[in-house]
Amino acid sequence: MSGAERRSGQCLCGAVRVSAEVTGPGIQACHCHDCQRWTGGGPFLVVGVRDVVVTGAERVADYRHSSWGERGSCATCGSPVYWRLQGGEIEGLAIGLFEDQTGWHVTSEIFVDHRPGWLPPWPGAMQATEAEQIAKFDAALQGETQ
Ligand SMILES: [Zn+2]
Ligand SMILES: [Zn+2]
Repeated sequence: MSGAERRSGQCLCGAVRVSAEVTGPGIQACHCHDCQRWTGGGPFLVVGVRDVVVTGAERVADYRHSSWGERGSCATCGSPVYWRLQGGEIEGLAIGLFEDQTGWHVTSEIFVDHRPGWLPPWPGAMQATEAEQIAKFDAALQGETQ
């Protein structure tokens, strides 16, 4: 993948379709327990996007699992669609939605202290613990209120 490009995709049942400008080739893997339960094993694999168009957005069920996070899933088939800060823009979409899976690779892993023992790290990916990642969320939330 050379620079930004638009890609499209859909949930398992097709009720929710997405089109977005992908901001780069990096996939982020989240190993937190919430993502493990949400995805059926995890990690939650997400790609950075902007200018997101969601068709069938009324079919997305938002679930607020913490004081800052919000998870969007298809209300019909259950496919994970996005994770975002509450009230924020969609800046990441589940990689499994996209038709074209070429050109991506895992560049960062977060909540790595919750990585299951059966899953090895991706070679070369940045590693962040829960404490390190929550410090980043806090900094982002404080930035929005200033
Ligand atoms: Zn669906
Ligand atoms: Zn997670």
